[in-house]
Parts: sequence; structure tokens; C-alpha cells
Amino acid sequence: MSERLEDLVRKRAGGEPVCLFAYDLDRLTDHVRAITATLPPRCRMFYAMKANSADPLLRALAPLVAGFEVASGGELDKARAVSGNVPVLFGGPAKTPSEIERALEQGVLRLHVESALELHRVSAAATRLGVTAEVLLRVNLAGPFPSATLAMAGRPTQFGIAEEDLPGVVEAARALPGLRLSGFHLHSLSNNLSADAHLELVAHYGRTVSAWEREFGLRCEVVNVGGGIGVDYARPDRRFDWPRFARGLPGVLAEFPAHVREVDFECGRYLVAECGNYAVEVLDVKRNHGVQYALVRGGTHQFRLPSSWQHSHPFTVLPVDEWDSAVPRPQAEGPVTVVGELCTPKDVLARDVPVSRVRAGDVLIFSHAGAYGWEISHHDFLSHPHPEMVFH
Ligand SMILES: *Cc1c(COP(=O)(O)O)cnc(C)c1O
Repeated sequence: MSERLEDLVRKRAGGEPVCLFAYDLDRLTDHVRAITATLPPRCRMFYAMKANSADPLLRALAPLVAGFEVASGGELDKARAVSGNVPVLFGGPAKTPSEIERALEQGVLRLHVESALELHRVSAAATRLGVTAEVLLRVNLAGPFPSATLAMAGRPTQFGIAEEDLPGVVEAARALPGLRLSGFHLHSLSNNLSADAHLELVAHYGRTVSAWEREFGLRCEVVNVGGGIGVDYARPDRRFDWPRFARGLPGVLAEFPAHVREVDFECGRYLVAECGNYAVEVLDVKRNHGVQYALVRGGTHQFRLPSSWQHSHPFTVLPVDEWDSAVPRPQAEGPVTVVGELCTPKDVLARDVPVSRVRAGDVLIFSHAGAYGWEISHHDFLSHPHPEMVFH
């Protein structure tokens, strides 16, 4: 825990129970700079905004990344609020015709097209507006995938164009007016922790695109290899080995046709997870049926990530010594289950985690809370107040 974070939590202790997300923008900036500085030629790092679209984060990121990947009209508005000309990639599995039209009016750099019908909608909107829409076709690869990535990639999902439908969609992309087919989009997995597996995956994309070029007689200019670089929530000290990945990348890019001018990454989690902490005060400590519970101000309605991924989220205890000596102060040692303020047994942030001591009035700091935390949560269930958002 950084001193700055501890300071800002301690300043609040003793007032209304602490409940806040704190985002360390210097840490974010350093992390993202270190990543983009080691990208080889042709590679560009976009930020997938769905991981966290808070305005101060976007403003910190805008000068550091190649642009934003957005997946809705709302995200497009947030990108444009930050900058009128930041490059925007427009994705998302179910775009409405009016979103497509607005994206074109707003001058997005490219659209990632997910079906034959969507391709027709983009063509119609571009024709109406008298512009040319640059598109990538998002393909849901049939596999087989390299063995290291098999567990996550290649399952049925609603995303992208089935590989067997690709010939027809490529033909349509060439025939329809208002379109310029620049290449393919191949985001296939999530939260990958292995640099070697990720290199194998990107190499696989390169071979796949080369094969399609031969099959369809195409010249591909852009390949989007997606996001999916992960965070190990069970062992957050074991970070994805970015330096190893960056060292391997030039060799892997040799699998891509030489005329591919741009290989786009669009990472969310890996860029922003680390800069966020979720700090919540322990309201009560009790034992029920042999299990020790710490009940906090906050919970899964503000931080749904651990329940969504079915993990115990890592946290540390910040001891707060102030306490009214006239009232009993419950405490627990050993395994403790951290739960929130909702009236449902599913409101669990961490289960049976050994602690040396946790007392009512202490503050728990959940680390790696910057991605898919507040963003994915059902904030208004039970109408508790929202947490404070601190950008420091
Ligand atoms: C969610 C998503 C991303 C970002 O994924 P991360 O795992 O956060 O890196 C990138 N591209 C697409 C199409 C996505 O849906």
C-alpha cells in the first residue's frame, strides 16, 4: 500500500465509514509508459475503455496510448469528451444503426464489424453520409489454437463472424459501397497470465491472417490482436511478464505479412487494474456457524469483480487504532470471510482468508481494483450511497 493511499484513508477515518475507490494516476502513467516504450515497430496500444471509463483515467491515458477502443455510443461520447480527435476504434457485438451512423459522423478511425448484417448497416450508413468506413472483420476463430492458450480460446461465443462464414463476408465487404476492408480483428481470450502463451497466440493470428490473404487474394493492412493480457488475482505479485513478451514480439511479427502496417493491441485490464484500490471500513466482525465474518461498508454492488470471477480478491488490513473504549470492539484472527452490506449471501468479496487480526473500525484495502470493478457493478441495489472516487 502506498503512503499516499494510507494517508488519504487515515484522513477519513473517524468520520462516516470509509468507502472509496482510489486511483493512482502517477502509477498508471508510469505503467503504461513502460509498456508502450517497449512495443516494437508496427505495434500500437489502444485502451479498451470498458475496463474503466472514468474521465480522469481517460485524460491520463489519452496522451500515452494510440487511442481508445469503445464498444457503445456512450463510450464514444466519453472518448469525445476527453478529446475531439483522439483516435477511436468502434467495436461491440450488437451496434445499433444509429450508433454506427454517429460513429461515422464522429470520424472514428475504424469499425470492428461482427456480422454480415452489421457490414450492410455500416455500408448503408457510410453511403448515406458520403464517407468511406474503414473496417476490420472480427472473426471468431474455429481453432485449433496453440496448446498453451487452448483452455480459454475457441469456445462458442456471440462474438465475431464464424470462420466458416468468412468467405461470404469478405466478398460482401469488397462488393458493398462505402467500405474499405483493412484487415481482421481477432480478440479471443481474457485474463491470460503467460507471456509465452500470448506470444504463441499472436503468432497463430499472424499465420491465420497470412493463410486468409492467400485464400481470398487480399492484402491486409491492419490486424487487431485484441486485449486479454491478465492479472493474477490469486498471486498479484506474479505479474504478466511484459518485458519477456515485448522481447519475443519482433520474432512473432515475422509471422505477419510484411505489408501489414499496423498491429493493434486493445488492452483494458492489464493497463488499469493495478492503479486502482478499493478501501472499505469494517463495520462489524462476527462468527456464525463457525465462520468468521468481517462486514464492510460497501460490497459487490460496488465491486462485483470477485463475485463475477469467483475469486477471493486480495486485500490488506489497515489497522485503525481510534475506537470508543466504552463500546466492545469485535475482532477476528485467522480465516475471515469479507462480506458487504447487501442482504444477500452472495455479497462476498473474499472467502476464508487468513489475517493476523481484523477489528471493527479497521479499513480493508483491496488492490488491483482499477479494472472491471465499479464499472461492472449494480450500484443501486439496496440504495446505499456510492463510494467516493479519489484520483490522486
Ligand atoms: C473486453 C475487450 C477488450 C479488453 O479486454 P481486456 O481483457 O480487458 O484486455 C479488448 N477488445 C475487445 C473486443 C473486448 O471485448
